[in-house]
Amino acid sequence: MTPFSAFRITRYGRGFSSREAIQAWQAHGMARLRQKIMPLSPFYARYAESRMADWPIMTKALLMAHFSEINTCGIDRDAAMALALKSEETRNFEPMMGEIAVGLSTGTSGQRGLFLTSRHERALWAAVICGRFWPFPLLQRQRVGFFMRADNALYRRVANPLLKFHFFDLLNPFSDNMVGLQKLQPSILVAPATMLAQIARAQQRNQIGIAPKRLISVAEVLSPEDSACIETIFGRKPDQVYQATEGLLAYSCRAGNLHLNERFVKFGRDVLDSETGAFCPIVTDFTRSSLPILRYRLDDVLFPDPEPCPCGCASQRIARIEGRADDILWWQGHDGKQRLIASDLLRQMVATLPVPVRDYRVIAEEELLTVWLDTSLPEIAFPALRSKFETLAQQHSCILPELKIRRGLPVETGAKRRRVTVIRR
Ligand SMILES: [Zn+2]
Repeated sequence: MTPFSAFRITRYGRGFSSREAIQAWQAHGMARLRQKIMPLSPFYARYAESRMADWPIMTKALLMAHFSEINTCGIDRDAAMALALKSEETRNFEPMMGEIAVGLSTGTSGQRGLFLTSRHERALWAAVICGRFWPFPLLQRQRVGFFMRADNALYRRVANPLLKFHFFDLLNPFSDNMVGLQKLQPSILVAPATMLAQIARAQQRNQIGIAPKRLISVAEVLSPEDSACIETIFGRKPDQVYQATEGLLAYSCRAGNLHLNERFVKFGRDVLDSETGAFCPIVTDFTRSSLPILRYRLDDVLFPDPEPCPCGCASQRIARIEGRADDILWWQGHDGKQRLIASDLLRQMVATLPVPVRDYRVIAEEELLTVWLDTSLPEIAFPALRSKFETLAQQHSCILPELKIRRGLPVETGAKRRRVTVIRR
């Protein structure tokens, strides 16, 4: 696929008309992957002819262990890592090896992931993102305010005369970033969901006055509260792009619903819960050639939405992304089986309390569940929440863990904010 056709399809196309159309498209992509890409990878060459079920399930650890043999560019892992780390430390040059950009994932837990993108891959990515999200009119210059943890050549390299990227480092003080944002007056604003909400609140306080035509949430799960807050303040519903170092996995359509990017990626499912269909995706990206991503199991939990979308595209709709599988709550059922308690249920309980709650956190540690509520009326909120938890446990026929409710919010470290955390020992 050329970047031009990717742009055209995303901008003007109606998406896949049926599941059969998706399968036909993917069969073609997979055949090309086997013929053209896998033979170039010393690690995957031997699997080019074998059934997909025989390919190893890839994980971040395995990918890093075999990085030098998996990539098709002959790039040595240690050299690429040294370059990426140096670039991150100094933040003043773009880590490139020839025409291949080297990136480092944020990696909140332990291991950092390395990834590579070729010029063609970056152009494809940009074509889809621009095709989908470029505001009207098409030939007007856009200023993109992009909040991220580290600048990466992937994004800077796609800049062109019509598109100017300005990066804001998430590690800089918020007030400094707001001064820069006010000056930039972005027409497109891209940031993690919680940062978008924080920016919206800065606008509400008149700390800044900006009027972006597009608001795009990336890197974090966009909660309905944050989405509503952003929409109220800016008068526009935020869009979502779900992408990882493993590729562009899903983005919202014109109807505002999230669809899997089945034009680039074949999705297998590791189903965690048959009732909701919640699964960890196993992705095979048949458009990537520099660092093949094949049968790569992600740790995120996706909840499928079986309803067809009004936009007419048959690609699988996703109701919610729950973040890491490790942060899913499982409660013991009366029948001895474990029940999945989706974070959305917790969110709804807090949202329907009779008094306002500014924010909340849920921390599960062994048999103890601690809920932090940022509210001025704990004497009403606490008993109401306790009774909601009891009802929830009853509805799911399971045993409610020991519940402790506290006022305020816990001290948090780390760039990514999570409302639900499970601590395992
Ligand atoms: Zn749709």
